[in-house]
Amino acid sequence: MDKPKSDNPLTSPVQYLKGIGPHKAYALSQVGVETVEDLIYYLPRKYLDRSSFTPMNQLKINAPATVIGQVEALGIVKGRKLTFRVILKDDTGFLTLVWFANQRFMHKVFKPGDTVIVSGEVRFYNGLEMAHPEYEIVSGNGENLIHTGRVIPLYPSTANLKKVFMDSRGFRRVLKPALERVIELIPENLPEKIVKELELMPLKEALPNIHFPQSLEAAEKAHQRLAFDELFYLELMLALRKRNLQKPELGITFKRPGELVRSLLAKLHFELTESQKKVLREIVADMTSSKPLSRLLQGDVGSGKTIVALVAVLIAVESGYQAAFMAPTEILAEQHHLNFYKLMDQLGVKVALLTSSVAKAEKEEILEEIAEGKIDLVVGTQALIQEKVKFKRLGFCVVDEQHRFGVMQRALLKQKGEVPDVLIMTATPIPRTLALTVYGDLDVSVIDQMPPGRKPVETILKREKDLPEVYRFLEKEITEKRQVYIVYPLIEETEKSDLKAATEGYEKLRSEIFPQRRLALIHGRVERRQREEIMNRFRQGDFDILVSTTVIEVGLDIPNATLMVVEHAERFGLSQLHQLRGRVGRGAEQSYCFLIAQWPLSEEAKIRLQAMITTTDGFKIAETDLQLRGPGEFFGTKQHGLPELKVADLTRDMKTLLMARQKAFSLVEEDPDLFHPENSVIAENFNKKYRHKLGFMAIG
Ligand code: ADP
Ligand code: MG
Repeated sequence: MDKPKSDNPLTSPVQYLKGIGPHKAYALSQVGVETVEDLIYYLPRKYLDRSSFTPMNQLKINAPATVIGQVEALGIVKGRKLTFRVILKDDTGFLTLVWFANQRFMHKVFKPGDTVIVSGEVRFYNGLEMAHPEYEIVSGNGENLIHTGRVIPLYPSTANLKKVFMDSRGFRRVLKPALERVIELIPENLPEKIVKELELMPLKEALPNIHFPQSLEAAEKAHQRLAFDELFYLELMLALRKRNLQKPELGITFKRPGELVRSLLAKLHFELTESQKKVLREIVADMTSSKPLSRLLQGDVGSGKTIVALVAVLIAVESGYQAAFMAPTEILAEQHHLNFYKLMDQLGVKVALLTSSVAKAEKEEILEEIAEGKIDLVVGTQALIQEKVKFKRLGFCVVDEQHRFGVMQRALLKQKGEVPDVLIMTATPIPRTLALTVYGDLDVSVIDQMPPGRKPVETILKREKDLPEVYRFLEKEITEKRQVYIVYPLIEETEKSDLKAATEGYEKLRSEIFPQRRLALIHGRVERRQREEIMNRFRQGDFDILVSTTVIEVGLDIPNATLMVVEHAERFGLSQLHQLRGRVGRGAEQSYCFLIAQWPLSEEAKIRLQAMITTTDGFKIAETDLQLRGPGEFFGTKQHGLPELKVADLTRDMKTLLMARQKAFSLVEEDPDLFHPENSVIAENFNKKYRHKLGFMAIG
């Protein structure tokens, strides 16, 4: 068949290559590989080197192992059941592979003399055996061994790719000649100066080395180079975006803090911490300049972000603007509303609450007053971004617990004003690597100090059967006038089943375990008035124990509650556990968090619970969480506008990210239009591959 022709072999369809016909081309296109260049950027998912393999005479029974060997013999064996068996040999011994299903198909997969890598659990059954191992055929008998090198790359594959023989071996087979053919044509996409200065591997070396490395070190260096490319252009986008944002948009120039702010601070029963003051100075500097404030305020749970935001709100109000304060849950919005009202009503600042549970008539009235500019500060949930909410002069937006919102929601809130200042806050600390990527174009302020007198929460892991002991402890603390949260778990991802667990737990606790104590139950379906009443009474100390679903996870602030019990703690994610624990330890008293788990625990659950016991540092927790879940899940990639990274791994490539960011931002500073001839490679590459993405990036 005629191969499609093209002037540039790199941009030719993959069928241009020998050994790739229409079937393979089709299967490849399903994984996004259309051109030769795409194929060359289809990277190994991992490497095996000699040290990854166990010699057969050192295999341990009932333990997993990875083994490399040659197929000595194979065949279908008729016993009580039909099995397919392969006898694999290395220099030290033999291993039998067994399949109880797909025997005929498997028979076609292997040939005597093939070099094969297998992984699985070893067992002993008339000799050493592995049943249904994962397998990789490294090379066929007599085939020119592409991989006799020390390091063997393994490629991601799919069922459809495997059907057309594009397993790891298939990829290696087509990649080797493809690379040789086009490597000289691959343009370097960074100026030589940067490559030299940062000691990066040149692209022409990196691509062959990522596929066919001579050593794991060479593979690592190649990976670093390709990760750098990806991160550099990402950061370049962020840097350019940030510059664009700053250029044309003229924000509001607010007045300096005046009488209102002073009165508010005078009403507080505490002094701001140095860290809060520092952050406030950063915020005030932006507000009083014409530059629109677009800032992420980070601070661990309980560090006192709310008051900082409130001061900023008052500055806006004092300058004659309205402010909006958005929180992710109704309970939290109600709490903020109550606190703000208490602090500010006497100061003549009009505060209103807007959530979906506000009754219709009341809502109509509030909407009208917002539109007329009679209300200075609106606290609410997502209800704030509904179309019918219209402000007269919205000048300042706060988004609390921003990780619970998507990019769109933040953008919609912002659009309620002309160019309002935006402060977004998060108590889920974002690891630095991720913050740089997701919020690369936002300014960041960090509260890194707790209010004085706080003691770290003591965290204790217990089994279900130890509950009586935990309850005795609670009983003692309640006698000392402390208050308790008991949280029931996520059973499934439905509110209904959560509700059931909490309701049943509540009934049992109330009637059997704490009959003398005052208990209340709260969950997402409690009606608003009742919910407010329960929360207010808990706040005033009328209840000893608040039994709850996860509706109390974020933001709640009741300093006298010093005990948190999390049932089925093994089912919660790490950030969630940290948030829940953050509900206690908000006053001067020693607080405790009991994590009740059910064994056996999965490996991941063990790591999560271990992390909770060993540290209360939100940043360490977040780093671990990121490692466990990866950036996509940790953050909900799409929601946050984080472009998908194909090469770079934010946990592993942190140094490279910092390097890339530094380079990209300084470049934009020095040569904002990328006009300098030295940067022409970058300009060209950027225009070709990245510029169109600018519009999709996260909106502050
Ligand atoms: P978070 O950062 O988790 O949102 P909050 O803003 O809810 O924390 O503050 C937690 C608690 O600490 C609140 O009760 C608040 O009144 C109190 N607080 C805030 N700042 C200080 C301070 N400087 N000194 C003492 N207590 C403070
Ligand atoms: Mg908060």
